[in-house]
Amino acid sequence: MRRLLCALCAFALLLAGTRARAEEIVLTEGSDRWSAQTFAMDTLIQATIYAPELTREEVLEVMGNLSRLERLLSVTEPNSEISALNRAEGEAVQLSEETLLLLQTAAEVSKETGGAFDVTAYPLVKAWGFTQVEYRVPDGEELRGLLEQVGYERLVFSEGAVRAEGQTQVDLGGIAKGYAGDVLTRALRERGVKSALLSLGGNIAVIGGKPDGSAWKIGVRDPQNTEENLGYVEVKDANVVTSGGYERYFEDEDGNLWHHIIDPATGYPARSGLLSATVIGENGAVCDALSTALFVMGPEKAADYLAGRTDVEAILVCEDGRLLLTEGLKECFTPLGSAGGRTTEWICRREDA
Ligand code: FAD
Ligand code: MG
Repeated sequence: MRRLLCALCAFALLLAGTRARAEEIVLTEGSDRWSAQTFAMDTLIQATIYAPELTREEVLEVMGNLSRLERLLSVTEPNSEISALNRAEGEAVQLSEETLLLLQTAAEVSKETGGAFDVTAYPLVKAWGFTQVEYRVPDGEELRGLLEQVGYERLVFSEGAVRAEGQTQVDLGGIAKGYAGDVLTRALRERGVKSALLSLGGNIAVIGGKPDGSAWKIGVRDPQNTEENLGYVEVKDANVVTSGGYERYFEDEDGNLWHHIIDPATGYPARSGLLSATVIGENGAVCDALSTALFVMGPEKAADYLAGRTDVEAILVCEDGRLLLTEGLKECFTPLGSAGGRTTEWICRREDA
């Protein structure tokens, strides 16, 4: 469904006769808001900015960060800094401060999560065909060979540069949309915006609350019935980021479904007992990387990890019908339709967290 919407959006943009990058952003001006829509990072991006005082040029300038980041960070953009690193075969590569900082954040989260999120999982992601959309099921031997190249500790950072050992390659697909949300919200705040809602292919970033001052209500999709929300969270100045196996997947000849979140320990798409992991917090990049990591960890490990961390809240939808929520959500999560009949359990913080 998402792919269809994205394709329709791309088609609509094409029909609009777009040429230059800035024109690929469809802008609508309302009495109290700007609405912007574009297609970047292989996903539909929508922004509602409650700041009619901004000029068209200012909104375009803010949204233009998306194509700038894509040119810098995408593995499918041959001239991106990340592609240069992926071609370097063990040589150190000078990177812009922005790319280097994001890569360092990605490497830190990789370490923090014991490699559940691993920024060097790219050879595996490619082997399954997710980057090129040429899906295939690699055999065990191929995966074992690739696993030798995977490991965040194979990235060696130095002044202004990074070196990826041997054939190690990186992919920021699990963190860059969250980071893009950070960049856009920062740019909007710098222009005085007090209320905005951004959706980057399901990653939500909000500035402030709604124009009336109340909290934003952000729906959390039911992974087993994706037309429905299992509940909503009420947030201000936050990111709400979900990773799940139900959006990007393919079916092999034997009818097996394989999704795009790879367990870097096995090389196979993660089958951890979770259907989705939603992370809520102030730092979009961290929320994005953590949602991927928690999904790989599975319910027990993820709950244990969250019990030791206080800067994010999370909602874990388990295959066995449980809904695990961090205790900080007690006041701001509302189930809908009995959350699809799931039982709710709260994750309590450890005292030393
Ligand atoms: P998330 O859970 O946030 O991330 C999953 C993605 O992270 C996977 O798709 C994979 O790329 C990577 N990954 C998988 N397992 C792990 C792991 N254990 N640890 C770390 N990372 C992992 N898609 C295209 O098809 N074509 C494109 O040209 C393209 N260009 C892009 C350019 C940019 C700058 C970005 C950010 C994304 C682009 N994408 C593209 C989409 C991208 O490949 C991912 O599919 C997408 O970011 C997944 O986001 P998600 O929120 O669904 O899942
Ligand atoms: Mg992610």
